[in-house]
Amino acid sequence: MPRSLESPLTLSVVTPMFNEREAVDHFVARLRPVLDGLGETYEVVAVDDGSTDATVARLLQLRADWPALRVVSLRRNVGHQTALRAGLKSARGDYVVSIDADLQDPPETIGEMLAKARADEVDVVYGVRSDRSTDSSFKRNTAGLYYWTMRRMVGPWVNDQAGDFRLMSRAVVDVLNSLPEPRPVYRLVVPSLGFSSAEVAYVREERVAGETKYPLSRMIRLTFDSVTGFSAAPLRIATWLGLLSFLICVGLIVTGLVAWGSGGVVPGWTSLYIAVLLLGGVQLICLGLLGEYVGRIYMATQHRPPYLVGFDSDTDTTPIEAAEREESELPVV
Ligand code: UDP
Ligand code: MG
Repeated sequence: MPRSLESPLTLSVVTPMFNEREAVDHFVARLRPVLDGLGETYEVVAVDDGSTDATVARLLQLRADWPALRVVSLRRNVGHQTALRAGLKSARGDYVVSIDADLQDPPETIGEMLAKARADEVDVVYGVRSDRSTDSSFKRNTAGLYYWTMRRMVGPWVNDQAGDFRLMSRAVVDVLNSLPEPRPVYRLVVPSLGFSSAEVAYVREERVAGETKYPLSRMIRLTFDSVTGFSAAPLRIATWLGLLSFLICVGLIVTGLVAWGSGGVVPGWTSLYIAVLLLGGVQLICLGLLGEYVGRIYMATQHRPPYLVGFDSDTDTTPIEAAEREESELPVV
């Protein structure tokens, strides 16, 4: 049942999209029957994350035939997590599901999540990837390393293999929307809140069309945000390394003095060279770590909006530049 103005909404499905023109038709074609079959009132919040292709134009065309499809277009590309944040802020449902646009998260699981949330009376239902064989081995290994590190650094409550496919109750979404954090990593923030939760296993499918929008540089950024957003442990590495260097230096000073006293002073080029390189490297690493945290503090003190909505199809009628982009510019799907 699509949304009507009189009835309150049960479900919002939030989908960040960045240059997903090739995937969007497949996504809508598979999602719509699933949602219609639930017998609930719903909206789909498609968050265009500053796409430079015709994603918005196509979404608006599809909306003509499916009014429950809402298009929220951000002014520029702000990244997956921040686009998700914009979507959570716009969503109005009692339950909110976040799902990728490339059909790697099967929409059919949404019904299972909703049923589980109601039956178990929980606030969060995580989609847990039980099988990632469709992902490249590089992606699987880096993701494995990511979850392993996070569980150790952030806390054991971080779910292994739970990405951003999850259902949240209104209570959880309201808390998330009230957080002032500049770059939240939701897959860590949500479990850290401690709401009651359940899990639904699903098989990660292959991207239906188009390319991944998560190159290695973005994966590294996500990892840095995950670590610095949750743990000050790396700062302590500097202290331990400093202590270790100090102890080694004490040993070297004693050796040096003994050698000087016995008159056997030799040209100590190698040891000096190694010591200078090693200490320089250690200092740079520690400075870099400090910089990561100072950077986060700096961003937080600027109080700039993390994203700006350029267009919301529910409230705006003025066409936007992105929507006017010619369909003919597109590769044919
Ligand atoms: N995405 C986004 N903004 C970005 C990068 C990605 O909104 O800057 C969206 C993308 O359109 C998709 C989801 O985030 O719906 C996950 O991205 P992708 O499937 O490319 O990542 P992967 O599954 O390869 O990790
Ligand atoms: Mg994907």
